[in-house]
Amino acid sequence: MRVLITGAAGFLGSHLCDRLLAEGHEVVGMDNFITGNPQNLAHLSGHPNFSFIRHDVSDYIFVPGKVDAVMHFASPASPNKNSPRGYVNLPIQTMKAGALGTHNTLGVAYANNARYLLASTSEIYGDPLEHPQKESYWGHVNPIGERSVYDEAKRFAEALTMAYHRFHGVNTAIVRIFNTYGPRMHIDDGRVVPNFLKQALSKKPLTVYGDGSQTRSFCYVDDLIEGIYRLLISDEHDPVNIGNPVETSILEFAEIINALTGNPAGIVFRPNLRGEGDPQRRQPDISRAQSVLGWEPKVSLEEGLRHTIAYFKEQLGIT
Ligand code: NAD
Ligand code: UDP
Repeated sequence: MRVLITGAAGFLGSHLCDRLLAEGHEVVGMDNFITGNPQNLAHLSGHPNFSFIRHDVSDYIFVPGKVDAVMHFASPASPNKNSPRGYVNLPIQTMKAGALGTHNTLGVAYANNARYLLASTSEIYGDPLEHPQKESYWGHVNPIGERSVYDEAKRFAEALTMAYHRFHGVNTAIVRIFNTYGPRMHIDDGRVVPNFLKQALSKKPLTVYGDGSQTRSFCYVDDLIEGIYRLLISDEHDPVNIGNPVETSILEFAEIINALTGNPAGIVFRPNLRGEGDPQRRQPDISRAQSVLGWEPKVSLEEGLRHTIAYFKEQLGIT
């Protein structure tokens, strides 16, 4: 296949490029670097099956030649207000990537009769009232809250994807990604894994927002990419959750990171600036992924964190 991957210079997009190339496909990467990092693709420079187009997906997309699949991953993805990469600080760009970017990428898929895969998110469930979250849950989202620029853009993106599927017969897929971590997350991304690892490796206390009782379920990137690849080559159209169902509180997570990095500085509690928009609990129900894709995660939190710690040490120049 010849595959267009938007958001290719980002954390997940760059891993997807690697996986598709390893499977023998040709990849056209696209990114405008708003939150991504050209370094994530540096190793692919000169690869015979890889090419790159610097472009904002909110503008009309032209890809020369035939495209067999489109994977739309371009979007700011960090909810952290303290990070310039946070979508709260890029609200209009975030809505445009989810709305116009989805429209333009669906247009490429329609014109090419290509498979289309949308990167959606557990955020479409909002602060969920159902636990764990199944794909059948419609969510609990504040349409005008600070996070709505991301959540509602992704909900719109899912609706538009289904409209292209139902009305134009485009061969679409939707993956609802739950918190994923690993090498190539930007160190200043602002999400909890890079934040905690940067603090821990600099022997600073970890900043737990609120009392740390809120939970997340963390999936290692290799597991996620495997699930997404299986979805791409399947003929599924309905959304599929991909994530790791092992749920931990953020306080417990901070303690695990301090133990693994040998950080003596402990933890400090900070007011949760995200307020009521911060989902209290999040855990995927992955029974659909298990039944339709034969997929489940394999990498333990400790193993995944060890790989990620090694990456961040390299980034920070720590030997
Ligand atoms: P990331 O910030 O590392 O990557 C996003 C990439 O998209 C960046 O390279 C950025 O420059 C690019 N981009 C953003 N807007 C663009 C635009 N208008 N035109 C072209 N490129 C643009 O984030 P990530 O974690 O790799 O997330 C990738 C996708 O996966 C996003 O769509 C995100 O919503 C989704 N997702 C990620 C997670 C996660 O845990 N990592 C969870 C749920 C959903
Ligand atoms: N969090 C925290 N300290 C930090 C960064 C995040 O306690 O330095 C918390 C945050 O309040 C949230 C959880 O960690 O409850 C996960 O945050 P993240 O930014 O990774 O993304 P989210 O899952 O909210 O989309």
